[in-house]
Amino acid sequence: MSTQYQIQQKYFESFACDLSEKRALVTGCASGIGKSISEYLVMCGAEVICCDLNPISLNIPDERKSLVSTQKVDLTNTQELIAFAQDLRDIDILINNAGLQFVSPIEDFPIDMWDTIMAVMLRAPFILIKHTIRGMYEKQWGRIINIASVHGLVASPFKSAYVSAKHGLIGLTKTVALEAAQRCGNLTVNAICPSYVRTPLVENQIASQAKLHNLPENEVISKVLLEANAIKKLIEPEQVAVVVGFLCQESSWPITGSTINLDAGWLAH
Ligand code: NAD
Repeated sequence: MSTQYQIQQKYFESFACDLSEKRALVTGCASGIGKSISEYLVMCGAEVICCDLNPISLNIPDERKSLVSTQKVDLTNTQELIAFAQDLRDIDILINNAGLQFVSPIEDFPIDMWDTIMAVMLRAPFILIKHTIRGMYEKQWGRIINIASVHGLVASPFKSAYVSAKHGLIGLTKTVALEAAQRCGNLTVNAICPSYVRTPLVENQIASQAKLHNLPENEVISKVLLEANAIKKLIEPEQVAVVVGFLCQESSWPITGSTINLDAGWLAH
């Protein structure tokens, strides 16, 4: 096992919780935050259904591999998504995480890209909540966690679709939290709002941000991405994963309809 894996395991163990009776569904597990959340949930003993457009390969010990099942799902494909959602049984924890970014002035923003971003980051969470919440009502327990963003609460230029989808996702979070609360005192619905996390989604936008802001690529992280952070550091995916664990604990039932900011001070301005 690599040193990076050992560091991650140590970090996860220091935030361990017991989810051994729980069944989770995580979207967007092939990379970044979703991969880390899946690895953390498995370490906590949860059974995890991982889905993504791309092949999924988690870093987990052999003795835990039976806890994981993977499925290729394109969240923009309505038929494929509904067929997948209808087959889901007894999901206790739903993590709507899959996402993508596209950076462009609105006048050049491709309509297809707007539709794709909305489908993955707003429509798919709606469909997956719609199909899993009945089972949570039956069990009288559930955790729905939407990975939103600081861009669900404030905007940045050139990200019209992403900012709109994330604002919508927070609206969906609050609405479903209120509906769920009428039916169950232990079914919570929350959004986690990170600022920049060290993942391919961020690494892939450095070149386009450099062009838009007329900066060399090596200055994009400090001058553009971290400009609004009070603490000038990228967040690590593991730091998002352990917040998921905190929200999944029994005693976290009062936290619902909330946006949990993990933003290095971005929103304090
Ligand atoms: P990432 O690019 O590393 O991973 C996103 C995953 O979503 C990928 O594995 C990708 O294949 C999957 N995905 C994309 N389109 C899909 C589709 N049509 N069907 C199925 N899967 C699809 O990105 P990440 O940084 O880990 O982002 C995860 C979530 O966190 C996103 O919702 C993102 O908006 C949010 N977020 C990220 C950051 C950040 O700085 N990285 C900050 C705030 C919020």
